[in-house]
Amino acid sequence: MVDTLSPKQRSERMALIRAKNTKPELRIRKLLHSLGYRYRLHRKDLPGKPDIVFPSRKKVIFIHGCFWHGHKCKMGSRPVKSNKAYWVNKIANNMKRDSLNIRELKNLGWKVRVVWECELKLPKKLKNSLTKFLGF
Ligand SMILES: [Zn+2]
Repeated sequence: MVDTLSPKQRSERMALIRAKNTKPELRIRKLLHSLGYRYRLHRKDLPGKPDIVFPSRKKVIFIHGCFWHGHKCKMGSRPVKSNKAYWVNKIANNMKRDSLNIRELKNLGWKVRVVWECELKLPKKLKNSLTKFLGF
């Protein structure tokens, strides 16, 4: 097969793929899988396209980067050096959209859990909390 992509196109495509399968997300998927949970990914028909969906339990999980989604933690308050107004605005918009999506999902009868990137620092605690959220 002939590779028709220029190096630039290829790296753009790779960046897209990376954005969809972020590292924290892969770690959480692996954890859930090892616990025996089965799930669907990125259901486009649900508000906010939740990262991990458990259709039979009617539960969803979002995995949020602390910086991008404005978490009130050390990782979330990482200072930006340039374009501060741009980032403040962008993050505020993300947060607004997140809370609208979550409200909409709840109205549709879904239970929602947001996993923050920083929670991965305490994997045992996260594991317990996810098991509690999902049930057996
Ligand atoms: Zn955080």
